[in-house]
Amino acid sequence: MKILCIGRNYADHIAELQNERPAEPVVFIKPDTALLRDNEPFYLPSFSTDVHYEIELVLKINKMGKNISPKFAHKYYEEIGLGIDFTARDLQAKLKEKGLPWEKAKGFNGSAPISNFLPKSQFADLKNLNFSLQINGETRQNGNTSLMLWDFDEIIAEISKYFTLKTGDLIFTGTPAGVGPVAIGDRLTGFLEGQELINFEIK
Ligand code: MG
Repeated sequence: MKILCIGRNYADHIAELQNERPAEPVVFIKPDTALLRDNEPFYLPSFSTDVHYEIELVLKINKMGKNISPKFAHKYYEEIGLGIDFTARDLQAKLKEKGLPWEKAKGFNGSAPISNFLPKSQFADLKNLNFSLQINGETRQNGNTSLMLWDFDEIIAEISKYFTLKTGDLIFTGTPAGVGPVAIGDRLTGFLEGQELINFEIK
């Protein structure tokens, strides 16, 4: 399986990192060794002193497809969960400066914790989903899918122009504003429509 990620999908987050608003979605990939499941702790890597959390909604692909049109994209995922797109911001800044790929900063081991997944049928309106992240009980990020530059169906259409989607692939759909560093001892809790799906510690 592969983990596809969308960058710069919420205008407020683009502004906080002073990035350019992209003309088409920014796409990058993490390897399967980035996954962390079952609220396992995240161990800070030795190569960064500025690892940032980014809470994101994650789609789980349920059948194979290529060149999927936005109109049919909803048939390619049945479940939604939460994930953290951990980013070594110091390393990423260096790589961006040189115009180099981001993989070291985005795809390292443990950089993609994911929650359990919920059936999308459980939610009344996928274009109005609230999600949030707390650090040590304090809310740091609040997102709503109505604020995405590209919605779920448009993301699937765009990604599948380039990559065949396969059952079990995951798509991280971008983070809202409020990203920041984590420290040893921090507890991260993530909520989707008020339901706690993520709860793990930084070690
Ligand atoms: Mg992200």
